[in-house]
Amino acid sequence: MPSSARPSNFLADIIAADLAAGRNGGRVVTRFPPEPNGFLHVGHAKSILLNFGLARAFGGKVHLRFDDTNPTTEEVEYVESIQADVRWLAGDWARLTYASDFFEDMYRCAERLVSEGKAYVDSQPQEVIREQRGSFDRPGTASPFRDRPAAESLDLFRRMRAGEFADGACVLRARIDMAHPNVIMRDPLLYRIRHAHHHRTGDRWCIYPMYDYAHPLEDAFEGVTHSICTLEFESNRELYDWVLDALGPWDPRPRQYEFARLALGYTVLSKRKLLQLVGEKRVSGWDDPRMPTLAGLRRRGVTPEALRDFADLIGVAKNNSLVDIGKLEFALRADLEGRAPRALAVLRPLPLELTNWPAGRVEELTLPWWPGEPERGGSRPVPFGRDLLIEREDFAEEPPPGWRRLAPGREVRLAGAYRVRCDEVVRGPGGEPVALRGTVDLASLGPDAEKRGGGTVHWVHAGRSLPAEVRLYDRLFAVEQPDAEADFLQALNPGSLQRAPGARMEPALAAAAPGSRYQFLRLGYFFADPVDSRPGSPAWNRTITLKDTWARPAAPPGLRREPRARPAPPAGPASAGRSQADLLATDPAVSAYLQEAVAAGAAEPSASRWLVNELLGLARGTPLPALPLSGAGFGRFVSLVDAGKVTSAGAKTLLADLVAGGGEPAARLAALGLARVDDRAAVAAAVARALAAQGPQVERYRAGEKKLLGVLLGAAMRETGGTADAAVVRQALLEQLG
Ligand code: ATP
Ligand code: MG
Repeated sequence: MPSSARPSNFLADIIAADLAAGRNGGRVVTRFPPEPNGFLHVGHAKSILLNFGLARAFGGKVHLRFDDTNPTTEEVEYVESIQADVRWLAGDWARLTYASDFFEDMYRCAERLVSEGKAYVDSQPQEVIREQRGSFDRPGTASPFRDRPAAESLDLFRRMRAGEFADGACVLRARIDMAHPNVIMRDPLLYRIRHAHHHRTGDRWCIYPMYDYAHPLEDAFEGVTHSICTLEFESNRELYDWVLDALGPWDPRPRQYEFARLALGYTVLSKRKLLQLVGEKRVSGWDDPRMPTLAGLRRRGVTPEALRDFADLIGVAKNNSLVDIGKLEFALRADLEGRAPRALAVLRPLPLELTNWPAGRVEELTLPWWPGEPERGGSRPVPFGRDLLIEREDFAEEPPPGWRRLAPGREVRLAGAYRVRCDEVVRGPGGEPVALRGTVDLASLGPDAEKRGGGTVHWVHAGRSLPAEVRLYDRLFAVEQPDAEADFLQALNPGSLQRAPGARMEPALAAAAPGSRYQFLRLGYFFADPVDSRPGSPAWNRTITLKDTWARPAAPPGLRREPRARPAPPAGPASAGRSQADLLATDPAVSAYLQEAVAAGAAEPSASRWLVNELLGLARGTPLPALPLSGAGFGRFVSLVDAGKVTSAGAKTLLADLVAGGGEPAARLAALGLARVDDRAAVAAAVARALAAQGPQVERYRAGEKKLLGVLLGAAMRETGGTADAAVVRQALLEQLG
């Protein structure tokens, strides 16, 4: 196994000192001991990388051991996924073992303890035993069976094994000290009866060893030298040593060391909770790309190298703390930055017609996969023509100060191509922009092109681009500590998965292999999903955005990666804990936005409720004035909701859409099909009244004068009082006209 640079952490120091002192005959053996009762997650990754890293750095060996001492929760599916995940992350192990391989040896050791008076069978119920153990400030009481003769205990223990007793009828306990200051040492349980089928040993056993007894023995049987576990086992170390000392001598004699387990912001890492997310179908499975499981991270496009960088970044400590998820995201960006070629895709297209480009003429531009890094080589043809698509968010009718994208009369560069100017906005029936017309500056490409300022936007050719399945993933939870909530499910981020149904990609991406990674210019890093991609038609998972969209304060300095350098850790404190209510009161931009909403007719209490509970979360740190949704638009959204035109579930979807792409709330409501059915009925009634009043025009329309549709539409709109949105009215109108 290749040895790597010596890790710098307290465990490496301990091992180095052991080797220097000649302990364990110069051997180093570590192990990673998962219980096969769930998929591995990013916390396990920390432990795996630590154990594999230490063994390799010191020329030692690492074992993968399934700690399968609990027959009721374990499943073969997990045994397989765990091996695949460990191999993906850290490569191969020197030895694969199962705790259950040692059941016979453990049993023999237990008989020895009984014979030597160091263990006894207690025939009391487990609740009584628990009560008698006392607590930190209350000594324990001895069981009446504590001093039963060794021969009697041995006989009972053998009969336990033989299946003579029901579950819970008796247990095997160590005889240590019922007044021990460490409660764990007050005659702990070693074996209990469980008439249960085991995934490997079948029905051979009906007694199963407890973790505290089994674990040190597994380590000893395997010749483990350094048994590394998480801090919550610190007080169990005394029992670990007692078991080994009572049953030694061992060569090598394993030692237990503890380190801080990983707790990560905006994430749950409890297997029980992850299982619940899967079981209740809150996610699509253990490998849902939003899950913190290794299977999920892999499917999201995260590489093992990024996880290694992350583990190095957070280090190994002896005190627990919550790790800022920004560090993981930073490691992902730093890793992908250097491995993802740059490509063009548009998520929410807005057509742009270049009126001075000859219709039908397509120019194949040659664009490098690595702009600005010619030494990396590689390019592909990208079609350019009269009809293009740009990102809806890259156009603003009324650009805010500092806007560097497209707006009426303004110019931008299309990435890798020409500069264009927007001359005209084409509007839909509701007045919303549905397309742009503009002109291309043909002199803006090539070596003599004049360098002018302004922004660059991404684009694709309308006709030659291809539709693409795109999933935009975000943090699964909306709060930093979901575990601290009364119900962690309430903290789920409703926007953690969004789709971009109209997304288009440049034609070269059709050839992208499943499992490949690209940066879609200005949109983020994307991974061709290995499960859902079809030949010629990849499905794309967004691994991560290019910038931290959650950071409330400006992104910490030092986050920009120097080319080819090691990532520098994000500076400054973990994400700011400013409460949303504070923000409302103290942030002038927020209160100005709220005032605009109220001026547009929204009721103040509901506007501020929607602002605090939903909008700020959806804005994810983008200052409100920079959102595509204006304060007035937000006010009209709130009025729609208060008027009962949309259900509250629909309202959240609608707001997320508006925050992502702007537009008139009523028009988006209709476009998304979220309008209340009874509202549609009201519109239909209004349309019927309007048509009745427009008898002659209706007859002329039906006789073939189709251009009268606009007149009829106007009449119907007036009849609805202008509150109904044009698309719904239009649809009702067409239905009634037949
Ligand atoms: P549970 O106790 O809920 O079954 P677990 O997370 O302890 O779950 P195990 O399968 O027992 O799961 O863990 C295997 C190894 O991974 C253990 O050595 C454990 O210390 C380590 N580990 C588990 N969670 C973390 C974490 N969040 N950070 C670091 N190491 C972890
Ligand atoms: Mg465990």
